[in-house]
Formats: sequence, structure tokens, C-alpha cells
Amino acid sequence: MEKKTDTGCHLSVHGHFYQPPREDPFTGHIPREPSAAPYANWNERITAECYAPNARVGNFERISFNVGGTLARWLDQHDPGTYQEIIGADRVHRDAYGTGNGIAQSVHHTILPLARRRDKICQVHWGIASFEHRFGRRPEGMWLPEMGVDYETLEILAAAGLRFTIVSDEQVYPRSSAGNWEAAGGPYRVSLPNGDSIAVFVRDRVLSNSLSFGMPALAQVDQWLGDQLTGQRHQNGLRIVATDGETFGHHHRHGVEVLRRILSGCESHGCALTTLPVYLDQHPPQSEIKVVENTTWSCSHGLDRWLVGCPCTSGDSRWKGALRRALDNLAGDLDRVYSCEAQQLGFKPWPLRDRYIDVVLGKVSGEKFLNGNGLGHLMSAETQRLLGLLEAQLYRQRMYTSCTFFFDDLDRYEPRYAIGNAIHAVALTRDATGEELSHGFRRDLSVARSVKSGLTGADILDEIVSRARIAARPGPPRRTDQGP
Ligand SMILES: [Zn+2]
Repeated sequence: MEKKTDTGCHLSVHGHFYQPPREDPFTGHIPREPSAAPYANWNERITAECYAPNARVGNFERISFNVGGTLARWLDQHDPGTYQEIIGADRVHRDAYGTGNGIAQSVHHTILPLARRRDKICQVHWGIASFEHRFGRRPEGMWLPEMGVDYETLEILAAAGLRFTIVSDEQVYPRSSAGNWEAAGGPYRVSLPNGDSIAVFVRDRVLSNSLSFGMPALAQVDQWLGDQLTGQRHQNGLRIVATDGETFGHHHRHGVEVLRRILSGCESHGCALTTLPVYLDQHPPQSEIKVVENTTWSCSHGLDRWLVGCPCTSGDSRWKGALRRALDNLAGDLDRVYSCEAQQLGFKPWPLRDRYIDVVLGKVSGEKFLNGNGLGHLMSAETQRLLGLLEAQLYRQRMYTSCTFFFDDLDRYEPRYAIGNAIHAVALTRDATGEELSHGFRRDLSVARSVKSGLTGADILDEIVSRARIAARPGPPRRTDQGP
């Protein structure tokens, strides 16, 4: 990989490594997933097919990457060897180039343009804290879930000290054209409404998709490199492949070796391999672009896939809007109860919630956390009540993971995960304050209906609650894991 500044052709690959959270919110354990056989669940299977072999052959050292917080937590607990190899890859890169190649991700994979401002701030802050906890340094960049972008999110990234993010070429303008390949991947400067600015890399959608959806056979990799990287219009500037990391090994079994050969073979085609943080150091933004707000890389209908449904998923997707309304109404109730408590006890609710990630990560106990935040004087009952409400805010954040709305039907484990986390937040609030929020939530959920099974969201809620009762232990439900 090159160290010096150079204006020739450059290639960078960014892998977004992520799994939807699979844990039962009441036990912290992943139920057995028969479809992942011979492995116990999909996390184990994808680790064996993708994360472990990519780490073993050194691919993580040569790409830039982000590992979602929920996946990082699982790897740390279940395959510490692979986890350490991935963390170590960032360290190797830092030793060689003065900057690491891992970047952060907003923590729960929420579609940020659909979140209110204080939740965007929380997601970004928790993502930075999770990254620091795992990689032992401040992140320089942040991956936006589904590349969902709006200017408010970019302002929050810049205010948090992040230098860059990545979007897809259909999300910016002026768009790259055949006559403007010199600067195709950027980085570009994006001026923000508050007067700040941030660097934005632009992935090459066609190039990225040619790996994601048409990965060459091993014998064709050299020809693929020649076709993609040579020719007049590709002589200068940066070309970025950015895609799901699982493309390499899980979606395409031979993808680990294809990636290894691309990374080691591109230089023989006159194209220097680089990573995004290194390239940004060497090539500060020279020109400016604008982003198309409320767009993503995985839906051509704005944010509809996660909001009201769109042709990206088949069938009747009215459940999406109904479920989102139920979650939003519940979130409003949870926030009202927490804010009232803050007012009574005299603290600012949202900055305290932002800092609560230290408890979530297991860095400090709840009591010590309150002590360190000027709340050591509280009576024991007040302390327990406040810690219960802060914990409820964790589950309230988790219920907005984008996977909930990504697929075609309500009666799948992803929407069940959201409803399960919501129930957990309701239970914690009930235990802390005696306030019962489940009736309104259940009523709202009754509007959402699965086309496939006919179950409503309320039916699913009842199922989850009765199963949780069977497994219930005395006392309030407690988190059994450490991590976001
Ligand atoms: Zn769509």
C-alpha cells in the first residue's frame, strides 16, 4: 500500500460488517436458528464463512471497515480470537500509516434521517464510545446505516469531531460523469447549514455492485481488475468499492479469496491500493458536492422502505407505517416519563443519556455513574428509579434498528426483536415508576398486521409477553450482556 502522495489511480475497498441483533432481549441469548445449520445460529455461521477467514488471510489490514456494535459485542464474547485479529488489523494499519483503518458506526443501525435530533446525537455518541472502547482510540470516520443521510446528521458527525463519512454516487450532486473521473470517489467537502463542513467519500455504485451481485470467479479476477481499472478515464483519482463485508465469504463463498486477490493484484494494473483514512490525509477535499437528503444506498424511494413501505419489498407493507407509529408513540411516552424524572431530580436528561453508554459498555457501575455525574446525593429509591429509566432508554434505542423494517413481513424475527425490546423498556419503566405504558402500545400494534400469518402486532406482543413470563425470574428484567 502506498505511503506517499500520488495523483494516479487509487482503489479502496470498504467493508460494512454487520449483523442484525439476534439476542432475545429478555435473556441476552440467541435462540437456536435451524436455518443456519450445521451452526447453532447465523452469527456462528457467518463468522465461519466470512469474519474468521477474512481475518486469517489479512484482508482486514488492507481495507477500511466498520464492525457494527452489536456484532462486535457478539464476536468479543463468542469468537475472541477473530475479534482480536480484527482489532489488531486496525493497530497494524495505524503502526504502518499513522492512522487506523477501522471507522465507527452509529450504534444501533438506526435510519438516522428518521430519528429526532436528540436520538441522532445519542446514536452517534454511543457509536463513538463503543468504537473507543473496542479500538482504544478516537474514530475518524463514521458509517451511516444504509448510508441514510441528511444534513442534520452530518452536522452532528462534524460536531462530534468526525472527519468523514461515505455515501453512494446516486446520493450526491453534481454527480460524477464520464468526463469527471479524476475525482470520482472524492473526498469532497460538504458544507453544512450551520457553517461547519465534513469530508464525504463517494462509493462507485457500479463497481461495488459488480462484486456484490456479480462477483467474478477466481480465474477471472485478473481480467476483472483489468476491465475495471485500466483505460483512459480511470487513470486518476480514487475509486471506492463499499459494500456489506459479508459479500466476501458469506454471500459469495469464494469472496474471501477474490478480495485477497483484488487487494494484492490491483497494483499490477497500475492502481495503488489505499484506505479511506490514509487517502484523506494525503488528499484533502479540493471540491465541493451536495448530498441528496433523505436517501440511502438500499432503497431508491427515499426512506420509504423503513417508513411506509415501497416496492423494494414485495406484498402489502402497510404494517411498516403502523409499527413505526406504535414505536414512535411509545418512545414519546418513555421520553416523557424519563424527562419528568429529570425535571424532578434537576438534571439535563439527554446529555446524561448520552453518557450512559459507559454503563452499557460495563465500564462503570450504575451507582458510580450517577456519582460521577453529580447525582451521588440521591436517595436509594431515587437512584434505583433513575437507573431503571436510563436502562429503559437503552431498549428504547434498540427498538429502532433498521432491520425491523427492512424485510417484507411483520411476522419475522426482526420486527419481533423491536417489539421485544419495546416490551422490555415498558417493563423497566413499570418497575421503576409504576407507570403502565403497555396498553397504548398494544392498541397501536393491533393496527399492524402480517400478510403472511395474519397475526397483528398485538398478537405478537402477547406471544412475547407470555413466553417472557414462562422464563421470568424474580425481580425486574436485567440485561445479561455488556455492550450496546
Ligand atoms: Zn424502496
